[in-house]
Amino acid sequence: MTNPSESSRVFNFGAGPAVIPESVIEEAGRDILALPGIGMSVLEISHRSSTFTEMIQTAEANIRQLAGLPDDYHVLFLQGGATQQFAMVPMNLLPNGGTAEYVVTGSWAKKAAKEAESFGTVRIVASTVDEEFSRIPEPSELKLSDDAAYVHVTSNNTICGTQWRQMPDTGDRPLVVDASSDIFSRPLDLEKDNVGLLYAGAQKNLGPAGVTLVLVRDDLVQQAKSIDRMVPTMLRYSTYASSGSLHNTPPVFAIYIVGLVTKWLLTNGGLGAMATRNERKAQKVYAAIDRTEFYRGPAQLESRSLMNVTIRLPNEVLEERFVKEASAVGFVGLKGHRSVGGLRASIYNAFPEAGIDAFVDFMDEFVRVNG
Ligand code: PMP
Repeated sequence: MTNPSESSRVFNFGAGPAVIPESVIEEAGRDILALPGIGMSVLEISHRSSTFTEMIQTAEANIRQLAGLPDDYHVLFLQGGATQQFAMVPMNLLPNGGTAEYVVTGSWAKKAAKEAESFGTVRIVASTVDEEFSRIPEPSELKLSDDAAYVHVTSNNTICGTQWRQMPDTGDRPLVVDASSDIFSRPLDLEKDNVGLLYAGAQKNLGPAGVTLVLVRDDLVQQAKSIDRMVPTMLRYSTYASSGSLHNTPPVFAIYIVGLVTKWLLTNGGLGAMATRNERKAQKVYAAIDRTEFYRGPAQLESRSLMNVTIRLPNEVLEERFVKEASAVGFVGLKGHRSVGGLRASIYNAFPEAGIDAFVDFMDEFVRVNG
């Protein structure tokens, strides 16, 4: 079954790069040939032009509005993906001989913790690795101490399909959040949650690959300036904060698309409306899993992600058949991450609700025939 609104487009369940709102793609398509009134492609404009200045400022303003961002937070556009943040965070925020605390809820969290080990002591304050990352720990399981430079969590675990319902209380220690796979899927309150830094690769909920969004509180940027190690210019938060992310040529096209996607979020009701819609979309898929014995959700009930729904079938032969038959009718990208197998339906903000309804019908029919 193809997307009724655009017969050449399938329903894209990819985990990232992922689906982008159709209206954004249409606008970008027009601007790839020539920006109205400019006569040049968006791919050709200078990053120092007034056209791009307006684009990056608009993207920042949209992000500030969506996140309700207090003035003492910077909005930075970086490169290197979330993976580069695994290193930049400790390089800038973890003094030599200091300790950082990590909550390990999935493979990305584990990689982040591993990278930090090169810069100081890493204390794992909770881990669900022994339970195949099937759940998010309870707040009481986090064994926090007073001396940590920061506490790092992964708000949504893209591979195993679990998500924090709310941020843990870390007292005075700033939280650092990898929000790559659920940024702007629900309201944020960085101040209330004492989030000192939040980062996200754009390629799931914000736009195309190539830009990483960092929201960072000014006191952490200032503190990082006097860290006791050599940090290359391009890996310092202060470089981006003091230049409006224009120390060198930024990823112009990716930032332009982030501007359009964030405008789309605002015109579609903002993060409150997104949260309601995401909840409804995900519950439809979880209901299809729960109404038969055929499907199984490996993520525990209270930890289920609204962004990445992981699904197991009775055996791998059936899983393969499901992926193949789904793909043949326009449901693409359902194969689970290679490290865990199974199926995964990534249903980010831009994934249309009509696609969910059609997919749930497909799931029900697949059980009827194969169950
Ligand atoms: N963190 C999370 C939660 C992710 O899902 C991913 C990518 N899937 C990464 C980090 C790594 O991101 P990147 O490829 O942008 O470095």
